[in-house]
Amino acid sequence: MKWTNAFIPTLREAPADAEILSHKLLLRAGLIRKLAGGVYTFLPLGLRALRKVEQIVREEMDRAGALELLMPALQPPEIWQQSGRYETAGNVLFKLKDSGNREWILSPTAEEVITTTAAAEINSYRQLPKNFYQISVKFRDEIRPRFGLMRAREFIMKDAYSFDVSDEAAQACYQKMYDAYGRIFARCGLKAFPVEADTGVIGGKFSHEFMVPAETGENEVVYCEACGYAANIEKATSAVSQRASGILPEEQTGTAGGTPAARSIEKFATPGVVTIEALSKAPYNVPANRQIKTLVYMADSKPVIILIRGDDQLNEAKLAGIIGTTVFRPATPEECVATLGAHPGSLGAVASTLERRPPARLEGEPLQRAVPEAGAPRIFADERLHGANGMTTGANEDGFHFRNVSIERDIKVTQWFDLRTVTAGEPCAKCNKPLKIRRAIEVGHVFKLGTKYSEKLGATFLDEAGTRKPAVMGCYGIGVTRTLQAVIEQCNDKDGIIWPLSVAPYQVCITPLGVAPDGAVMKLAEKIYAELTARGVEVILDDRDERPGVKFKDSELVGFPIRIGIGEKSLAKGEVELKPRGGALQPVKADVAVEAVVKLLEEGQASLR
Ligand code: ATP
Ligand code: MG
Repeated sequence: MKWTNAFIPTLREAPADAEILSHKLLLRAGLIRKLAGGVYTFLPLGLRALRKVEQIVREEMDRAGALELLMPALQPPEIWQQSGRYETAGNVLFKLKDSGNREWILSPTAEEVITTTAAAEINSYRQLPKNFYQISVKFRDEIRPRFGLMRAREFIMKDAYSFDVSDEAAQACYQKMYDAYGRIFARCGLKAFPVEADTGVIGGKFSHEFMVPAETGENEVVYCEACGYAANIEKATSAVSQRASGILPEEQTGTAGGTPAARSIEKFATPGVVTIEALSKAPYNVPANRQIKTLVYMADSKPVIILIRGDDQLNEAKLAGIIGTTVFRPATPEECVATLGAHPGSLGAVASTLERRPPARLEGEPLQRAVPEAGAPRIFADERLHGANGMTTGANEDGFHFRNVSIERDIKVTQWFDLRTVTAGEPCAKCNKPLKIRRAIEVGHVFKLGTKYSEKLGATFLDEAGTRKPAVMGCYGIGVTRTLQAVIEQCNDKDGIIWPLSVAPYQVCITPLGVAPDGAVMKLAEKIYAELTARGVEVILDDRDERPGVKFKDSELVGFPIRIGIGEKSLAKGEVELKPRGGALQPVKADVAVEAVVKLLEEGQASLR
């Protein structure tokens, strides 16, 4: 391709709304343009790179035995109602109406479609296993689209769905996909690593995400250098989050004198104190780790009370997994009053205070007491509070707290869960060494779904004995457009992108420093261009009549892996200048330049395999 025939609108400066480096580089290198927030056009060079990522994904999916198909982007809402996700995933669904006022959903993912298809087409164990995949546009009504292709409203995803006859068979398929993902990201030149992940609203039992370490990543990964444990912070646990080891021995005992559990609960006035911090200061001096933080959430219009230690943070992703929907929110102060009879800051779950029902009353009216048991809100407590004695918590009366609270004695916990967020330095649950936390970009996700969707949507088969069973499913996603941007986020320097050979829009850029058609420089450039092209190398020839500085800057910015500089000076010595992007300039004899480039390309490609 001749540069003058191509379309490479490079920019000196990135538009102001591009926040992270890879987003800026995508725009500056003329790879994408924004149409609207979270909606982008791929310009020709961007599309070339994207197609390469897609092709790598396709080759590895095919190699792992998955079958490519293409499902519609328009989905009927009925199948979402059938799976139960019409409500639970409702906030990301783009919905639209046709002229007959019928609703449609723009595909954010395709579990419902593929399972419906499998239900109609698969009937016997003889047709299994099957693993179907597609590479297609997905739509999600993200609350906060940002960072270019990283979190877009419209993006390209590879999604695969497997159907197996048993758990063991499904596990084997999961492993195959897991291995394929490792190869895909390595071939894209990405350093990505798998971490244990939350299964979220998509459901299922078990999952891994593939993460690319990056400061700008939206995910936090908890990891242990000693034993290799790695998990998304939404899922991560540590030795202190686990029952039994949750409360350290010195924390079991309260303040001096007597066994705290034996001391009876005592109400004390805390006027104006509404934070953990304020209570930890004089005159109260209750350390945060001796406080029980009481949070109220509304899920499905019903309150859920969450108890965690005062120095811990609730992990909303863990809560979502427990409740089974992301459609929940912190209660408003009014809802807290309606649930517990007090405002945030004085909330608690001590059993005796829950027998009193909230003042749904007018000024001056007597307080209504006595709540029927059935209407009592659920109380979920964090495992770390197991056996906690001598604790302080709100008294459900504005301006009052209780001390000497024993969680087992004084609070009727409905269920115990790991609800807290792990912090850096906590001991690893597997090996007790300190955990670390770093930021990362999630580029892929593999899930074991089990029979959740096959049961709801009727994807069953007859086994060898003639018994009808639901297929055991898995699903496997890769954010193809996000992966492309992750490559740029990981592979760059101050001058621009440093494309790995495998995904570069062109592998070689020939830069003649003088474009007179009859000049020796341009003649040689054309010759090398023709020879490399004939050898199957993807070459761009910068035939623009521009200053050398402009040409060099652009080729560095766009990030072609190898540049061949041809100028009169070096040509006088019979040489051209090879420059691997990000490497040192290498003068080579003009007559062996093509061989030298081909060799560099072969070595580079071999290192990506
Ligand atoms: P996230 O937590 O980042 O929202 P997710 O868990 O919703 O991701 P999945 O439903 O597992 O994502 O989708 C599979 C892959 O699609 C993700 O691993 C990610 O690479 C990509 N992806 C998801 N949402 C977006 C988006 N809004 N823009 C670009 N890529 C996305
Ligand atoms: Mg999401």
